[in-house]
Formats: sequence, structure tokens, C-alpha cells
Amino acid sequence: MSPTRSTRSNSLEQHLLPIDFLIIGGGVAGLCSAIALTRVGHKVTLFDQSSDFEKTKGAGGCRVPPNMSKILIRWGLEKQLRAIASTSRTVHLARYDSGYTLGTHAWEAEVLKETGGDFICMHAQSPFPSSNNALSFQYGSLRKLFSGLRRKFEFDVILGADGQSGISRRVVADQEERETPLGMSMYNLVVPKDKINQEPELLEMLEQGTIHTWLGDGRAAIGYPIKNPDNPHDKDYALHLWLPADDMAGNGWTSAVDNDFLLSEMGTCESRLRKLAGLAPAPACIPVTERPELEDWVHEDGPMLLIGSAAHPFYPGALQGMSLGVCDAAALGHLFQHLHTRDQIETFLWAFEEIRQGRVSSIKEAEMNYLSTLTLPSGEMQELRDKSMRAKYDAGLNALDADNGGDDIAEQFEAVRETFGYDAEDEADDWWVKWGSLKERAQYDVIKTDFVFAVQSQESTTSVCVE
Ligand SMILES: Cc1cc2nc3c(=O)[nH]c(=O)nc-3n(C[C@H](O)[C@H](O)[C@H](O)COP(=O)(O)OP(=O)(O)OC[C@H]3O[C@@H](n4cnc5c(N)ncnc54)[C@H](O)[C@@H]3O)c2cc1C
Repeated sequence: MSPTRSTRSNSLEQHLLPIDFLIIGGGVAGLCSAIALTRVGHKVTLFDQSSDFEKTKGAGGCRVPPNMSKILIRWGLEKQLRAIASTSRTVHLARYDSGYTLGTHAWEAEVLKETGGDFICMHAQSPFPSSNNALSFQYGSLRKLFSGLRRKFEFDVILGADGQSGISRRVVADQEERETPLGMSMYNLVVPKDKINQEPELLEMLEQGTIHTWLGDGRAAIGYPIKNPDNPHDKDYALHLWLPADDMAGNGWTSAVDNDFLLSEMGTCESRLRKLAGLAPAPACIPVTERPELEDWVHEDGPMLLIGSAAHPFYPGALQGMSLGVCDAAALGHLFQHLHTRDQIETFLWAFEEIRQGRVSSIKEAEMNYLSTLTLPSGEMQELRDKSMRAKYDAGLNALDADNGGDDIAEQFEAVRETFGYDAEDEADDWWVKWGSLKERAQYDVIKTDFVFAVQSQESTTSVCVE
């Protein structure tokens, strides 16, 4: 897919019909949808249960892949993004238990340029100030609001962006759902620089700007430096650890654990990981679970759509987790920029589902496969994986380039990397050119034919000529 902006024109382009969106949830999906929709001229009211966006997040680091950063850059947010994020150019892969190097990978500037974005790492934080729109929607009131939607016309569309355990998902699915534990917990750590200062081997990792990936027996870790949110000249170190868990560790989405508990769960691991785990203030534990895929993200009775993790929950710490919410927002903005009649609202909501569902499920599959490869149990497969990676390293080759030897990890990563060039706005534009405008034209032709027929049948009394 081309990284350049789509310049397709539309001969049927008409004036935008601005409508009112109600967005429930001010996480990445909700906030970015508010940006995307107001950019094209719609009105948005966003509520979050918290009044302080800065406190709703900030638990850990996040990696921003090029398909997400290119959208934020296109929206004019590059300066703000660069101020809080660091660019990452290299990946180092090592054994979890010993730290033995298995491979390295350098992102070539050319490859990134082709994607139109950049690979960056940052604190999970909102760039938005506090708001006085704090409102926690309750299940009953949302249902009531939804059923009155058409009658009152206070809002034309409700976007459910309140996350995987939010009420919007329940309203659209119309049932309670069960989370299935996947036998793993993800631990999210941020170690501040002042703690790392005393440890030369950790300080070295902080200064390198490399993303470190550790591969272990049922365990994996990914660590990288991130700018300190209060002082961007200082760096902290973010670490995600995936460790085996008998059941859902903790109670709910996140819970703080004690460092000794974390160290005991980590099993045998290299010294830098142990040091980071020992130094991290309040490590957070997030159970890795799976929720059933919803058949539809659009409410069957009317204009309500799920976006972000409310539509497609993902395992914590996944590379594309946050980016899916940004891409949802981008696609939504590009579809609704063509709105000029109310009849189109429903068509666009279903078009969104059509465009995004397949894409999201292939990204999820690719990322799950990659995590499984990182956490391969000790044995023949793991030995093969490590041997082939190390052979590439010894030959001076990039570990994650699939064309260098076709080993398992590179092939798995290839599927993840394919999404870097993906452009959600282009995909929405494609839908409009192939289907949306065609439908418009068909309707226009019906109206035109009716008009011609009406005029012809009165030919004796009029001389109107219809082209
Ligand atoms: C520890 C951790 C690390 C991660 N690392 C990465 C990473 O490196 N890269 C990446 O891309 N992704 C990462 N992710 C995933 C990413 O954070 C999620 O995919 C993303 O936050 C989902 O965004 P969202 O807007 O859909 O939902 P959320 O972020 O869950 O936002 C939902 C919002 O809705 C609000 N809300 C909920 N209920 C109500 C209600 N009833 N009324 C009003 N408001 C409500 C909440 O306050 C919240 O602000 C990570 C996730 C975790 C937990």
C-alpha cells in the first residue's frame, strides 16, 4: 500500500452534512476519533469517567509503530509527538535466561521512509489537558440514551470507545461475555533514571535507544528507553514481561504487585532483567485474556459503533494494540468526510466494520503468533529458532528480515511488519471510490431516471431538457 496520501477525487462530492457524535471514553481510540471527526467538520462530545486524562494512563511505556505515527504526523502532531517520544532504530534479541545474544536488527531509514512513519517509543500518556467532561456512563443510562437516540436527535451517532470491559461492548453485544485466561500475565514496569544511575549495565541500555527483546521458555520481555514525561531530557526504562500464570493474576485489568513477588514469578533470568524488576516502583500486573470476537461492531438497532479495544480487545503490551485505535479513528474520519445525507450514516458505520474487521483480525493473529514464537517452550523448535537466529547474527545479517534465511521468527515478524505500511485513511478512501461513491451514483441515477420519466410524461406541457 502506498504511503503517500490518496489524491483520488470524487465527482459526486457534495457539501458535508455536519452531525453530532457522542464518544464514550477518552482513551486513544476516543480521543483520536474526536480529532479525526472534528478535522473533517463534525461535532463531537466526548465523556470519560475520569476528569484527568493525564491520570487515566501513564502506567507504562508504549511502542508506536509507523502505521500509527504516520497518521499522527499527518494530523499535524509531529512536533508534539517528537517532544515526548524517542525514535528507535535497533532491536536486540537475547535469551531470557542467560542474556546470550541471538540476533540484532537495524531498521533501515529507507524501509521506514517507505512506510511514511517512524518507529518510536514513549510513555503511555495523553497529550490532552484535564477536562470537565467527566461522566461515567452506566449500562442502564446508555441503553436508555440509545433507545431515545432517534427520537431526540441530541446525538446522531454514539461511538463506544470505553475499552474492552466497558459498557458499550455489552450494549452492542447485548450479552455478558466471558474472558478466557491465556495462562499468562503481563507485568508493566517503568524504572526511573535516578534508580538506573547506580547500575552501569542498565545505564548502557538506557543510553543506547535499542529495543531489547528477551526470548524464554514460556516467558518473554521487551524493554526500551522512554522520555520522562515531566522532564523529556531524562529517560526512564520501560519493560513489559509476559510470564506464566495459573489463572488471572490480580483482580481485574491491572493491579500493583510487590517486587519480591514479581522476582519469584520471573524464574531464571539474566541479571539485567532481575535488576530492573527489583528497582521498578509499583510494577503492574495485567492478566492476559481473550474475549470472544463480536460478529458486529454496529448496534443492530441503530447508530452506535464500537471502536478501539471496545470493538477488538488485544493482549496487553501488543505492538499494534494502541495503533488499532488510531487507525479506527483515521478510517472513521475519512468515511464521514463524505457525509451529506442522513441516509449515509448507517452505510458508513457498516462500511467501517467491513473495512476494519478483516484487517484487525489478521493483525491480531500475526501478533499472537509472534508472541508464541518469543515464548516457545524449551525443546527442538526453540533450539532451531535460536540456532538460525544466531547464524544470521554471526553472518552480520538482520535477525528479523525474512528474506535472509526464512526462519520462523523472521517469518512471524514479517506478518507484523507488513502492517507498518498499512494506511487506514487510504483504505477508507478506497472503499469510498469502489463502493460508496458507486452507491451514491446508483441512487443519483435512479433519481435522475425518475426525473427524466416524470418530465417526459409531461412533455406536451413542458420543454425542460434533462442531460
Ligand atoms: C500495560 C499495557 C501496555 C501496553 N503497551 C502497548 C504498546 O506498547 N503499544 C500499543 O500499541 N499498545 C499497548 N497497549 C495497549 C493499549 O494501551 C490499548 O490497546 C489501548 O489503550 C486501547 O485504547 P482504547 O481507547 O480502545 O481503550 P482504553 O485505553 O481502555 O480507554 C477507554 C477509556 O474509556 C473510559 N471509560 C471506561 N468506562 C467508561 C464509562 N462507563 N463512562 C465513561 N468513560 C469510560 C476509561 O476511563 C478510558 O479512558 C498496552 C496496554 C497495556 C495495559
